[in-house]
Amino acid sequence: MSSPYPRTNAALAARDLAVLWHPCTQMHDHETLPLLPVVGAEGVWLYDADGGRYLDAVSSWWTNVFGHRHPHLVAALKQQLDTLDHVMLAGFTHEPALELAEALIRVAPPGLARVFYADNGSSAVEVALKMSFHYWRNLGHGSKQQFIALSGSYHGETLGALSVSDVALYRETYAPLLLKPLLAPSPDAYEAEPGESPRDVATRRLAQLRAVLQREAETTCAIIVEPLVQCAGGMRMYDASYLTGLRALCDEFHVHLIADEIAVGFGRTGTLFACEQGNITPDFLCLSKGLTGGMLPLSAVLTNNTVYAAFYADYASGKAFLHSHSYTGNPLACRAALATLELFATEPVLARNRELAACLARELEPLREHTNVADLRQTGLIAAVELAQDRRTRQPFPTSERRGLRVYRYGLQHEMLLRPLGNVVYFMPPYVITPEQIATMVRVARDGIAAAVA
Ligand SMILES: *Cc1c(COP(=O)(O)O)cnc(C)c1O
Repeated sequence: MSSPYPRTNAALAARDLAVLWHPCTQMHDHETLPLLPVVGAEGVWLYDADGGRYLDAVSSWWTNVFGHRHPHLVAALKQQLDTLDHVMLAGFTHEPALELAEALIRVAPPGLARVFYADNGSSAVEVALKMSFHYWRNLGHGSKQQFIALSGSYHGETLGALSVSDVALYRETYAPLLLKPLLAPSPDAYEAEPGESPRDVATRRLAQLRAVLQREAETTCAIIVEPLVQCAGGMRMYDASYLTGLRALCDEFHVHLIADEIAVGFGRTGTLFACEQGNITPDFLCLSKGLTGGMLPLSAVLTNNTVYAAFYADYASGKAFLHSHSYTGNPLACRAALATLELFATEPVLARNRELAACLARELEPLREHTNVADLRQTGLIAAVELAQDRRTRQPFPTSERRGLRVYRYGLQHEMLLRPLGNVVYFMPPYVITPEQIATMVRVARDGIAAAVA
C-alpha cells in the first residue's frame, strides 16, 4: 500500500505527537526522548521505519512470551479470521471460547473448574474482586466487604484494580476515588533483616498476616497477591513457602485467595503457573498478558465450582453475576490463546526456559559486585538489577534523577528495548531468545548502567 506520507521515524513520530496520548507517559518527555515508530516485528526483534532494530528484552510489557509473529500463532489467527470474527458471549458460545476454557482447566492448578472471560488484566482483577464480594453476599455474609493486598503490589489501573495496588506513582493522585484495602507487609526478600533467608522473611510475614486476619477476617472477602514476583512494583521476589502458608491462612480464616498471575503466568517463573511452586490452588486465578502470546487482548478468571454454585439460582434471587465486557471471549483472541497453549503442549518450553534462565544468571553474575548494584535477583526468566547510590547502604537514587530512563535511552541507542521500573533494570525476554542474544542483552544493560550511574 502506498502512502502519501513519508515513512521515516521522524515523519511518523511527528504525526503521532499531533494526535496520540501515550500510556504511562509524561508526553512532555518526548520533546527530548525519541518516540519510536515500529513498522514490523519478528521473533525477538522490533523494526523501526529507518531500518533500525531493537531486541524486545521486556516482551513488550510481558505479553509476547513467544516473541513477535510466531508462525504458529499467525497461522491459527489467519484460519480463525476466515471462520468467525466475533459474537457476543451472552446467550452464544463458540469453539475457541469453549476449547480454551477446557484447555485452561486441564493445565491450571487442580480444582479450578470454571472460566470467566474479560478482555484485559485490570478487568480480570475487577471480576475477581466483584465475584469474591458477591459470593460472600450470596451466602449471607454481607459483612465481608473489604480486601487485603500486599505492600508493593500492582494489579492494574482501573479504579478497583488500582485500589488494591500499592505503587505510589500510580495510586497517590487517585487515592480519594479508591477503595481502602488493608495492606499486609509483602514477603519481599529484599526486605530481609540481617541473617534472614527469603524463607525466614516469608515466615515472618505470614505471622503478621495471621494477626491481621485474626482482627479482620470477619469483614474481609479476599486477599489478592502476585505469586512469587511483584512485577510492576519493582520485580520484588519472594519465597514460594509464602504461598503455601497463605493458602492455609485463607482456609483457616474463610477468606478467598486471589492469585493475580497476569504477569507471572505461562511459564515465566519456571512452572506454567507460579502457584504450582507453592503447591496451591487459589480460589480465583487471573490470567492475561501472555495468555494470547501478545497477539490480542484477552483475560480470564478461573474459579472453582463452589464459587460458581453460589451464583446458581432463580433469576429473581439476584444472585447472578451480571458483569460483562463487549469483547468478552472474542474468538480471535481465544484462538490466539489456544495456539499459545499448543506451543506449551508440543514443545519443551519449560525445559528450554530453565536453560535460558541459567544462562541469564551466568551472564548477570558479574554485576552482583558492582558498587551501584544493591541487589541482583531472579525467578525463572525474570531477572532484576536494583540500582542504588551505594550497594552497602542501598540508598536509592532519587527518583527525580531518573537513572532508569538513562538506561532506557542507552538501550535504544544500542538495539535494545529495556524499560526499567525506576531504579530497577529488569529482563523479561521472549522465550525464543538465544543464549547469544541473552549475552548481548546483558552486555548492553551493563554498559547502560555504567553510563547511567556515572
Ligand atoms: C499488567 C498487570 C495487570 C493489569 O493488566 P492490564 O492488561 O494492563 O490491565 C494486573 N496485574 C498484574 C500483576 C499485571 O502485571
